Amino acid sequence: MSLHTLSVAELSASLGRREFSSVELTQHFLDRISSSNPALNAYITITAERALADARAADQAIAAGTAGALTGIPVAQKDIFCTDGIRTTCGSRMLDNFISPYDATVVERLAAAGTVLLGKTNMDEFAMGSSNETSWYGPVRNPWDLAKVPGGSSGGSAAVVAARLAPVATGTDTGGSIRQPAALVGISGIKPTYGRVSRYGMIAFASSLDQAGIMAPSAEDCALFLQAIAGFDPRDSTSVDRPVPRYSAELNSPIKGLRIGILKEFFERGLDGPTGVLVNAVLDQYRALGAELVEVSCPNLPLSVPTYYVVAPAECSSNLSRFDGVRFGHRCENPRDLMDLYKRSRGEGFGSEVKRRIMTGAYVLSAGYYDAYYLKAQKVRSLITADFKAAFSQVDLLIGPTSPSPAFDLGAKVDDPITMYLNDIYTIGANLAGLPAMSIPCGFDGHLPVGVQLIGPHFGESRLLSAAHAYQSVTDFHRRIPAAYV
Ligand code: GLN
Repeated sequence: MSLHTLSVAELSASLGRREFSSVELTQHFLDRISSSNPALNAYITITAERALADARAADQAIAAGTAGALTGIPVAQKDIFCTDGIRTTCGSRMLDNFISPYDATVVERLAAAGTVLLGKTNMDEFAMGSSNETSWYGPVRNPWDLAKVPGGSSGGSAAVVAARLAPVATGTDTGGSIRQPAALVGISGIKPTYGRVSRYGMIAFASSLDQAGIMAPSAEDCALFLQAIAGFDPRDSTSVDRPVPRYSAELNSPIKGLRIGILKEFFERGLDGPTGVLVNAVLDQYRALGAELVEVSCPNLPLSVPTYYVVAPAECSSNLSRFDGVRFGHRCENPRDLMDLYKRSRGEGFGSEVKRRIMTGAYVLSAGYYDAYYLKAQKVRSLITADFKAAFSQVDLLIGPTSPSPAFDLGAKVDDPITMYLNDIYTIGANLAGLPAMSIPCGFDGHLPVGVQLIGPHFGESRLLSAAHAYQSVTDFHRRIPAAYV
């Protein structure tokens, strides 16, 4: 049986009916990982023993009648989430030897829900990148075409779900790292509202933007897993104490009369190729489903990329100062003195993109440039947030492309950081404003998948998921699997 083609809901029902055990299901995925991961390079760490132990515990819970909706379902964790007793690298040489002494809240909650940990997925170093090429562990390959990137920074999570080496994976999104890779590999990915999912134990890149979310084939799968990780956590001071809706129960909310805003700034330039044609077809599909589409404008949105590349490096330069070779992580050999220890440990431990961000961040925060760059960027950030607020007084959701193009060639953009940064031109706005957003597959440009993006008002996850589900009820792009992995 092709266990890897079943949805989370189907897996859960079949486990409950004892059609197969969680141990059998887990072994099926471990076998797929053994044969396909060497070429894809999507997992950094495979936790086979732990997975089988989790699966045995899940089978006992199912037998005892104490199982929940996710009991026994295998999951892959992005290697940015701390996992107790398991190596947690964040894609960096700096943490190559780091074994976390505790679990991130996301990890703890998925374990408490009875899921099975398959392993830790490859990612851009400290989540900085859009192609997974900044990872110390080498690039991940796109399952649709091994010469192409899978997107980033959650490129490993994207690839394992697309190739069905896990039914679902976690991701994090600071400027697009769930949505852009989801689009480039043809899966669904949701970045929740800032504060909806705890950041405790999630290695920090840019704390005011970072948010954990779910990557899975369908919106329905995303809903089930988001339910398990969302909710207040007193260990994260930015976690919001607000009840979590029943996302799965609300998936079938009617689309008729839903007001969807076509984001003018996203459609007026650069969308004339195949991506534009496919995204425009989604608008027609939503009209056919009974939604009302209206054009709305967020005039400051075109400033989101330069704003982000001031704010995110500023926060990263502060967050990454903790990696000093003293307490944990990489330490250079035979330091002469403390300054030499700092310099060489950091010089050896970090890759060039991370160093570029730390230097940019230190610069924009420095006494002479703070007002000109950091303060200015924060002001523009407020304007962008206000634009979205005004837009959501007219519409329920916003729609636009996720990424300007489908997956590009490995190596094509590595030497040109600005071109690489422009990959996130459509995704960064939602991070700056803290809004929930998701990408779902909407077709193919040649043999490569293309995604469409939905953005919601704060805590509008249910609306996003139900709109995505409605689209997926009348299309099958989310069910397509690359030929080599069927
Ligand atoms: N690609 C963006 C960056 O390089 C976003 C990364 C992310 O969301 N973690 O910063």
